[in-house]
Amino acid sequence: MNHERSIVHMDLDTFFVSCERLLDSKLIGKPVLIGGTSDRGVVASCSYEARRFGIHSAMPMRMAKQLCPEAITLRGNSGIYTKFSNMVTEVIKESVPLYEKASVDEFYIDLTGMDKFFGCHKLASEIRQRIIKETGLPISFGLSINKTVSKIATGEAKPNNQIQILKGTEKPFLSPLSVRKIPMVGEVTYKSLCDLGIKRIRTVQEMPMEMMHRVLGKNGLSIWKKANGIDNTPVIQYHERKSISVERTFDKDTTDVRKLESIITAMAENLVYKLRQGNKLTACITFKIRYTDFQTYTMQKRIPFSSADHKIIPVVMELYKKLYQRRLLVRLIGVKFSHLVEGGYQIDIFDDNEKVINLYQAMDKMRERYGDRAVIRANGMEAKSIGRWNPFNGEPPPLLANRRR
Ligand SMILES: [Mg+2]
Repeated sequence: MNHERSIVHMDLDTFFVSCERLLDSKLIGKPVLIGGTSDRGVVASCSYEARRFGIHSAMPMRMAKQLCPEAITLRGNSGIYTKFSNMVTEVIKESVPLYEKASVDEFYIDLTGMDKFFGCHKLASEIRQRIIKETGLPISFGLSINKTVSKIATGEAKPNNQIQILKGTEKPFLSPLSVRKIPMVGEVTYKSLCDLGIKRIRTVQEMPMEMMHRVLGKNGLSIWKKANGIDNTPVIQYHERKSISVERTFDKDTTDVRKLESIITAMAENLVYKLRQGNKLTACITFKIRYTDFQTYTMQKRIPFSSADHKIIPVVMELYKKLYQRRLLVRLIGVKFSHLVEGGYQIDIFDDNEKVINLYQAMDKMRERYGDRAVIRANGMEAKSIGRWNPFNGEPPPLLANRRR
């Protein structure tokens, strides 16, 4: 049996900046920052010219402006980035049978078996050239036997280049690199590795697996595997999702306003969490109500792209209050978010600030660990389980809405 795979990782270079430069050539060659422009905003994307000043994404905008006062600052436009992202997706979709869209500017392509016909490296190069020609956007790729090695290779290839890691050379390729380059190693893990005297991937490769396991637990085990170029995770076929929604039919029709409001809050809150899980932003909110006589009413409202509770939940409540006019028993309520776009890690590109991002990241982390209902709004507490299904990972919804995975 042949288990050898050919996996490409493609990543658009400084994606938001590159899009802005296509729209305004005056930005070419200059330090450009994109992100929240308010005093507490953070950098969502920055050009290589800006990186030379020590600026990186997720850095507070205030600090970035201090490091490079002449930088051009833009608020960004999710709608435009999504359009360009879709153009790139189209090229890949037309060229290969199996690809995964990991984020707005990042793709994995499984070319396993294609080498017999075309040569994987040649095919990947042709796709990259087509993307550059058809969209005008710079893009880099790494090609190897798995996702981790390819992703690290892309990072080494950048900007606007490509690298192939031949089978059997994964370990020597990785060994001189910083452990920071392993995809799952964030700032916190990096610090604890440094405290252990581990800075280069080579050090991890020379350690016994059990030692990493003992010192850093499960996390240490997967770091050890990645450092040794081992990664069996599959490329998961991507399907575009244009909207997400949730509905609830009551066992007994109700006019209990307190109960209604509590359940609507919980439904909206859970759906916004799912938006963030899928790295999406919504620009259109729909509320639906069905009365005991089966008359159904819906109302929608456009909003600036967002995945923030404090922007979306009030709009849901506003629509509910406008729509719930007949003092009849309510049979069903529903909430839908549509006009979805890719949002990266952003919560609200026009209003990103550190405090809000940190709050949502902390809440979402608790939900990932302890379940959807680990952190909830006090006025949503009456509602029971809403469900743990992530609508963006390609898996079908579970049979039971509240079944834990
Ligand atoms: Mg990128």
